[in-house]
Amino acid sequence: MNAPESPLAHATLEELVFDNSFAGLPENFYTRLPPAGLPDPYLVAFSQPVAEMTGLTPQEAQRPLFCEVFAGNVLLAGSAPLAAVYSGHQFGVWAGQLGDGRAHLLGGLSNRLGHWEIQLKGAGRTPYSRGADGRAVLRSSIREFLCSEAMAALGIPTTRALCVVGADLGVRREAMESAAVVTRVAPSFVRFGSFEHWASRGKNGELQRLADYVIDTFRPECRSFDNPYSALLADVARRTGELIAHWMAAGFMHGVMNTDNMSILGLTLDYGPFGFMEAFDAGHICNHSDEGGRYAYRNQPQVAQWNLYRLADAMATLIGSKPSTAQAVVDAHYGDAFESRFEQLMRAKLGLAAAHPSDEDFIAETFALLQQHRPDFTLFFRALSRLPAAANRENQATIDAPLRDQFIDRSACDTWLTHWRSRQSSTPWPDDQREAAMLAVNPKYILRNWLAETAIRHARNNDFSELERLRVCLSRPYDEQPGFESYAALPPDWAQGLEVSCSS
Ligand code: AMP
Ligand code: MG
Repeated sequence: MNAPESPLAHATLEELVFDNSFAGLPENFYTRLPPAGLPDPYLVAFSQPVAEMTGLTPQEAQRPLFCEVFAGNVLLAGSAPLAAVYSGHQFGVWAGQLGDGRAHLLGGLSNRLGHWEIQLKGAGRTPYSRGADGRAVLRSSIREFLCSEAMAALGIPTTRALCVVGADLGVRREAMESAAVVTRVAPSFVRFGSFEHWASRGKNGELQRLADYVIDTFRPECRSFDNPYSALLADVARRTGELIAHWMAAGFMHGVMNTDNMSILGLTLDYGPFGFMEAFDAGHICNHSDEGGRYAYRNQPQVAQWNLYRLADAMATLIGSKPSTAQAVVDAHYGDAFESRFEQLMRAKLGLAAAHPSDEDFIAETFALLQQHRPDFTLFFRALSRLPAAANRENQATIDAPLRDQFIDRSACDTWLTHWRSRQSSTPWPDDQREAAMLAVNPKYILRNWLAETAIRHARNNDFSELERLRVCLSRPYDEQPGFESYAALPPDWAQGLEVSCSS
């Protein structure tokens, strides 16, 4: 879902043509209602690539009407806003009905790049708000905006974000904060929990309608299988496996992998207390509210499988099988997709030219090194990218300094590097070519919490320039960017105690 190479026909706001594909489902799938909007909204952040992707002229962001539309104050012709219903398992427990408690789907836009649903998050209460205020705070909206766009630039499947609009409207969380609306863009926001919703109520007709909608709109290839529903489940299992492999290889932690936050299209969905791994610890818990560590980094692959089992349970009657048979469909596709993609991504990060039977062991040895010595996950692979693959006895320590200096115990790094060099010799690759390939997969810039926090602090003082600088920097995570070196740095002292929670 990258920006188009050639410009699309660009529309003004008034020229956008909504096709409301989700609204074609029966009325009990959603509640139609207008967003509540925000008073005197102002533009906080804007993603030009997303505007281009959806077919909107980027200059439109300068019009006052842009803020009015994406605050939810003005509805464009053809837009038929609605909030969707879904259910889900939260922290391993059935939570019953949830739904878009603070999201309004404005409608869909289609062009040759695909179908794009446009959703406001934070524009007021819906019938699914369950007593909450229907709002999103500026802090979490900026985090969702920045991370969606950073993930897309890293090449990781994700929902996108068009803009953040703010207002001087107080919202109570642990403290008073100000309200904002983030506009999300994705082919679909259907979740595992959308299927669980109908299955839990024994509504097989609705369940089938939903599956048919997903297949016909997004996965028509499933129709060529004897059992299209089983093919859909296999597709979701495979894509989810690949998604989690990407997360693990990038050091990304979602933080709240509840089944209502799992996309049926295999996209990263619902950014809340996410984090990127810094000093490596496989047990790291990025969500301060996750006391048991259910969603810790190392648990993500298992949790995704557990979530897929819940989807399998929900789809079993549709597939015409027992839940255990549907779960076997997950087993037949998820593990292989995760493992083969993860191994491929790690091989690329390690600069290995081709597969070798020892790779699984070597990858495990690498993670054991990281776990024991805790270098910064991102900087480790970035520094490794520039090291020569051949040993040079005379000044090895000087040559290897950019990596060795990340370790207190430099001899542990030396031992591992000896193994890396010996592994390199099994599938040789000229240094210059390998270095270029490694730099193209090992990012220099990731969305560190301290960077997001800095942009948020400026934004709270109505200075959005830092946020824009960070967005631009993270849109080219693999490039050296002179002037941005400090954005690749370890967290400063003031940021050591930063915590993120479910509060958003
Ligand atoms: P989340 O943990 O953000 O994925 O949200 C779980 C559920 O709570 C979803 O149904 C959300 O729509 C709902 N929710 C979260 N925050 C709010 C809020 N401030 N107002 C209304 N609903 C909310
Ligand atoms: Mg959610």
